[in-house]
Amino acid sequence: MSTKETRSFEAETKQILDLMIHSIYTHKEIFLRELISNASDAIDKVRFESLTNAALLKGDTEFKIEIILDKAKRTVTIKDNGIGMTYDEVVTNIGTIAKSGTKSFLEALKANKEGGTVDLIGQFGVGFYSSFMVSKNVIMLTRSPLDEKGVRWESTGDGTYAIETIDREVRGTEVILELRDKEEGDDGDYVDPYTIQSLVKKYSDYIQYPIVMDMPVYDEKDKNKHEIKTLNSMVPLWKRNKNDIKKEEYAEFFKLHFHEFADPVEIIHTKAEGTLEYTALLFIPSKAPFNLHFAEFEKGIQLYSKNVFIMDRCKELVPDYLRFVRGLIDSPDFSLNISREILQHTRQLATIGKNIEKKVLESLADLLIKERSKYEDFWKEFGEAIKTGLYSDPAAKDKLKDLIMFESSNGGMATFKEYVSRMKDGQKEIYFGVGMSREQIEKLPQMEAVRDKGYEVLYFTQRVDEFMAMHITDYDGKKLHSISKGDIESLEKDDKKKEADEKEYKDILAAIKEALGEKVSEVRVSKRLKSSPVCLVAADDGVSFAMEQMMAQTQMKKMMPHAKKILELNPDHALFQVLKDEFTANKISDRLKDYSLLLYEQGLLIEGYALDDAADFSRRMADIMVRAK
Ligand code: ADP
Ligand code: MG
Repeated sequence: MSTKETRSFEAETKQILDLMIHSIYTHKEIFLRELISNASDAIDKVRFESLTNAALLKGDTEFKIEIILDKAKRTVTIKDNGIGMTYDEVVTNIGTIAKSGTKSFLEALKANKEGGTVDLIGQFGVGFYSSFMVSKNVIMLTRSPLDEKGVRWESTGDGTYAIETIDREVRGTEVILELRDKEEGDDGDYVDPYTIQSLVKKYSDYIQYPIVMDMPVYDEKDKNKHEIKTLNSMVPLWKRNKNDIKKEEYAEFFKLHFHEFADPVEIIHTKAEGTLEYTALLFIPSKAPFNLHFAEFEKGIQLYSKNVFIMDRCKELVPDYLRFVRGLIDSPDFSLNISREILQHTRQLATIGKNIEKKVLESLADLLIKERSKYEDFWKEFGEAIKTGLYSDPAAKDKLKDLIMFESSNGGMATFKEYVSRMKDGQKEIYFGVGMSREQIEKLPQMEAVRDKGYEVLYFTQRVDEFMAMHITDYDGKKLHSISKGDIESLEKDDKKKEADEKEYKDILAAIKEALGEKVSEVRVSKRLKSSPVCLVAADDGVSFAMEQMMAQTQMKKMMPHAKKILELNPDHALFQVLKDEFTANKISDRLKDYSLLLYEQGLLIEGYALDDAADFSRRMADIMVRAK
């Protein structure tokens, strides 16, 4: 029979306890999750032992975790009928750090001396010792089913603990927390049943044993009515057989669990067995959150281990371009302390992440084929995110090419595959136009000849589109080609005619180039114009106009190469005749210079540029109007 002993914690444990006591970490509430999970582990253990030794349970087979609140004494008790601990087990499990999952926390702490311990507590969660974040004194009563006697352990966390053998009827462990006074920043008062109820819901809802507590019940006649309630729902949806789950149940879960308003577009529920074991329940939402494309948006998949919630947004599990995917992974291969061991687990996480990516892409490809209009709705919400994958994630490129779609001159939306299947004889490239909207692109002079030929044009109306095109370059061997850039091969006139044109117009084109100086890199006769007199095109080897304008608004402005502008004129337009006549009569006159500048400025305006000198433009315009009178 032992009497009461006072022992010291080992040095490292002291360090941790010190941290807990003085912690200003705001998520102190995790203490409850940690204690409940210990209780659940302990029940797991006794249940396992009882498989070979049924007598162990002594009739106490109703496994449960009880929470008892005492407002007057300010205590929270977490009680289980699990495996309990013997005297020696208490000493090793609770008194030394080696036994507790806290060890790697301490290692990280050492590696990160100046890095702020507060953050680390948040990331880590530190098992039993987290009790001291909220308690001024902690008492543990426990008894192993293999022992006659129980054990009482007590500590204020300041370096020593008291331990003694006691009489104890029941099997299992009871942890009694004597709370400190409520502090500013606490997420509620832990002796308040509603606070506890919501914390259980948040962190421990899917613990497979009932977590019970005496809860007030609203009754008009009996103001003090209360009854024992089970706080958690226990069987997680994702652990049920997928054939037994109705679509509505998934949708309901999705909305409740992830605070969404609309039903998901797609549900993916899969199980992996083998070297890595996990269940995944993933959702593709139907509506994008307003901040999806802002830096503050946090992507990620929830992480559970054996039904216990570990982490809300584990970002290692989804690539950036799938940042809209919601869902969870439950894997017994991760311990509750995953966050403190996240580095050791990155390989496993990456493997699961790859599988998630694959599943989501498969499901999207399927949706595109089977439910086109649903896919188009999805695309409106998340297409932009998917497109970013084409340039941020080279490995995903090939898989994504078939999922992207654009508005098209064909009417609705078109994928590359559809586009290619409709290409005309003699058409070698995939054409796209860049602009703010379908309407704007349709009015571009560069559209004229392409449209005339009956070639389909994809409309790039989102900021990322052109960027993305630079990374795709081709689909099915067909190059992507902007209608406002370089030469359009399929539109070339026959060589003889081209030669003749070039000879005929050589001098006048040179004169216009001289008038414009460095403003343009070249002046040439256009093959893409039908009814418009002029347009600007960008050189093949430079950036496009849209890109130049987009970058001009960002930090990249300074390093930005300018788009090389080529002025193309329509030789069949009456205006060209006017220029020719002027040139024949007066060579490079002031008038010819004014005309050239005005044509160039029209080109700029069509492309959405601001004029270099609007006042000068206006003066020239006025002069010409006066002369024309
Ligand atoms: P971890 O759970 O990561 O091992 P903890 O600090 O939470 O770390 O717990 C330390 C150890 O104390 C546990 O591994 C377990 O052996 C023991 N323990 C804690 N709580 C209980 C409990 N309610 N019943 C039985 N053993 C417990
Ligand atoms: Mg634990």
